[in-house]
Amino acid sequence: MPPDTPKQRIAKIAVPCPLYKMFDYRLPVSIGDQTIQPGVRVRVPFGRQKLIGIIIEESQSTDVPANKLKSVIAVLDDHNLLGADILKLLTWASQYYVHPPGDALQTALPVYLRNNDDTTPSLTEYWYVDDSDPLFLDGRSLRALTDEELQLKLKRAPKQLQVYQLLRNAETSHGLDADALNKLTDNWRTAIKALLEKGLIRCDEKPAVLTPNDTDPPSIELTQEQIETVRSIESHEHQHAVHLVNGVTGSGKTEVYLALCETLLAAGKQILILVPEIGLTPQLTQRFQDRLNSNIVVLHSAMNDKQRYAAWHAAANNQAQLVIGTRSAIFTPLPQLGMIIVDEEHDGSYKQQDGFRYNARDLAILRAKNNNIPIILGSATPSLESLNNINEHRYEAHYLKQRANKKPLPAISLVNLCNQKLHEGMAETLLSKIKQHLDQQGQVLLFINRRGFAPLLMCHDCGWTTNCQRCDAHMTYHKRRNQLHCHHCGSQRPAPESCDECGSSNILAIGAGTERIEHYLQETFPDTQVSRIDRDTTRNKGSLQEKLAKAHSGESGILVGTQMLAKGHDFPNITLVCVLDTDQALFSADFRAAEHLAQLITQVSGRAGRAEKPGEVLIQTHHPDHPLLQTLLHKGYQSFADAALKERQAAGLPPAKPLALLRCESVEAHAAQTFLEHAVELSRQVETQNLELFGPLPAPMERRAGRYRYQIMLQSGKRNLLRQFLSWWAPQLQQLPSARKVRWSIDVDPYDTF
Ligand code: ADP
Ligand code: ZN
Ligand code: ZN
Repeated sequence: MPPDTPKQRIAKIAVPCPLYKMFDYRLPVSIGDQTIQPGVRVRVPFGRQKLIGIIIEESQSTDVPANKLKSVIAVLDDHNLLGADILKLLTWASQYYVHPPGDALQTALPVYLRNNDDTTPSLTEYWYVDDSDPLFLDGRSLRALTDEELQLKLKRAPKQLQVYQLLRNAETSHGLDADALNKLTDNWRTAIKALLEKGLIRCDEKPAVLTPNDTDPPSIELTQEQIETVRSIESHEHQHAVHLVNGVTGSGKTEVYLALCETLLAAGKQILILVPEIGLTPQLTQRFQDRLNSNIVVLHSAMNDKQRYAAWHAAANNQAQLVIGTRSAIFTPLPQLGMIIVDEEHDGSYKQQDGFRYNARDLAILRAKNNNIPIILGSATPSLESLNNINEHRYEAHYLKQRANKKPLPAISLVNLCNQKLHEGMAETLLSKIKQHLDQQGQVLLFINRRGFAPLLMCHDCGWTTNCQRCDAHMTYHKRRNQLHCHHCGSQRPAPESCDECGSSNILAIGAGTERIEHYLQETFPDTQVSRIDRDTTRNKGSLQEKLAKAHSGESGILVGTQMLAKGHDFPNITLVCVLDTDQALFSADFRAAEHLAQLITQVSGRAGRAEKPGEVLIQTHHPDHPLLQTLLHKGYQSFADAALKERQAAGLPPAKPLALLRCESVEAHAAQTFLEHAVELSRQVETQNLELFGPLPAPMERRAGRYRYQIMLQSGKRNLLRQFLSWWAPQLQQLPSARKVRWSIDVDPYDTF
C-alpha cells in the first residue's frame, strides 16, 4: 500500500436481516478521519437491496477478503439518533431474547427512520392572527384588522370571515391547528389559503407535543398511604431501585405517579410512562395534561409513521418531558430520563408475541438500572414474577390497601352453576340480582371473554360442528352478520343454513358469547339500554369513545364486554359485576391461566362500587370448591399469588425456573417435526447437563392457519447457562437444511405456551 493512501476504515454494521451477526463494511473515504458514533444510520448494499443499517462500532480489521468487502453508500446521520443507552439496551436485548441484532435494532427505530434517509420530523402547522406587527410590511397588512375593516375586506367571503374570527378568538398563542379547526368548522382549507395570500393571517409550525391544559388543579390531598409511598420512593434520592406499588383498584396509584412526576419534572427530568393500551384509557393522558406543567407526547400503534416519528423526535430532543406510550415506547430516546413508570405491570401486552419477542416491562427495569434511575411498577394484581422478586428482596414493595375514597372493596360471591337452570349461560340467581341492582338504579357490568353469538354451531341430528378448515378450533357464530369467524386465523364464511354432513336444518348454537348475552338481556330488560363493548362493536373510529361515554353517564344500564372492559376504566355507577365463565381457565393447559384468571377477577371486581353505592361481584362456576377460587375469595389476591408461586416452584416453572421455547410450524407436520428432531440432535454436541429439553411436543393448538405447530421447551436452574446455550444453538439452527422448509422462532420467557 503506498504510504499516502488514506487508512481504510471498517465498521461493524447491524443490517435488518434474519442472521445472527453483524456485517463489516468499508466506510466512505469522504468522511476522512471524522469520528463516527455507534448508532449512526448508514445506507449499505445488501444482496440486491440497499438497506438502512446501524453502525455498532468501528473495527481495526476484518475477516472479509478485500475483494468481497463492500462499501457504505452513505452515512445518513451526524450523530446517534437512538442515544447510547438505547443502543446498549438493544444490544443486550438481542442477545437475551436470542434475536438477530439487525432486526432487533430496526424494531426500535421509528418506522419513518427505517425507510427514510431524511430526519426532519413533520411538525404540526398552525395558523394565527398576529397583533404585534406593523400595519404595513412589504405593502401587506399584518395587523389584526378592526371589525369594520374586516367586514369591508371580507364582505364577499363569509367563510374566510368566519375562519379569521375563529383564529383571532383562539385562546393560545399557537392559534389553531388542523385538529382544532376540524372541531370548530368544516371546509376551512380554502379559506385559510385565501387568508394567507391576503396576508391577514400567518402560518407557523410547532413540535408534535401536547401542551399542559390550563385548568385549575383539583384539590386532592394525598392519603396517608399515598404520602408514605411517595416519601419512601423519594427517600432513595432518585437512585436506581425497583419499586412495586401494590395498590388495590381505586387506591390512587395514579395520584402517586403524579406526585412523583411533579418532583422530577421540576428538577428538569424526563419521565417515561408505559401503559398496556392507550386507546382504552384516553382519560389517563388527559389527567397528566391537566395536572402537570410539562409537554407530553403519546406513542402508540394507532398513530401513523409521521406522527409517531414527530412524537419520538420531540422526546429525543427534550421538547416533551413526559412520554406516555405502549410497549415499543420503551425504546424512545430520552436524554434527561429521570424515572420510568410501568402501569399495570402484570399486563400481557408488554410482551411482544412475534418477531423480536421482548418484554417491555423487563427491558424497562434494565434501562432504569443502566441509567441509575428509579422505576415504578404499579398494579392491583402484580405478576408472580414481580412478587417473587419482592420475596427475594430485589424489589421494594409499597402497599396501598385502601381505596382512596375509603369505600370498601366489593363483596365477591360464587354462583354454583351445577344443576341450575341456565339462560344463555346465566343462572336465575344471577338474573334476579341484575334485576335487583337495576331496580335500585345501579349499573351492571357482565364480563365474558368470548366475542360473537356462540362459540360453535352444531347439527342436532348428527352432531356435526362448525370447525375451521385451517385450525384445530371451532368457528364462532356471529349472528348479526350471519357469519362464521375463526378467531384464530381470521377465516370467515357465511353461516350454514343446513348441516354440511346430513343436510338437516336443525342447527343449534352452542354456548354463549357477548352478542348472545347482549341479545338475551335486551329482551329480558327492555327498559334498560344494553351496551356491548368488544372488538366487534368498537371497530369504527369513535365508537369506543361513544360507548364509554354512555357507560360513564349511566345512559347504558347494562354493559356486556370482553377484557377490553377489565382494564383501567372508572365507571362510578357500577354496583354489580358478573364474571360469567371461569371454568375454562380453571382447567387450561396454559401454566399462567390461573394467574390470569385471578388477575381478571380482581381487576373486574375493582370496577364495582367506586362511588356512593356499595358494590357486589358474582362469579359463575361449576367448581365452587376449586382451591384457586376459594383462596382468592376468602384470602385475597396476595394469598392466591403466594400459593400459586409455591405451585410454580414445585413444578419447576417460571419464575422459579426460567423457560424458553423453540417453536416451529409448517404446512407439513413432518417437516416441522424433523426440524425439531434435528435441533435436539444438534444440542447433543454440547454439554447440556444442567439444561432440560422437553420435546418435540405438539403445541396445545396443533394446527393453526393451516400450519402444524410443534415446540421444544428448554429449562435450566441457571439462567446464564440457558442463555449461553441458546446463543450457540440459534445460529446453528439457521444452518440446518431442514430449517428451510419451516418457520421457527425462539421465545425467551414466553407469555404462553400456545
Ligand atoms: P388507581 O390507579 O389505583 O386505580 P386512581 O389514581 O385512578 O386509582 O384513583 C381512583 C380515584 O380516586 C380517582 O377518581 C382519583 O381521582 C381518586 N383519588 C385518588 N387519590 C385520592 C385522594 N388522595 N383523595 C381523593 N381522591 C383521590
Ligand atoms: Zn347433521
Ligand atoms: Zn382458523
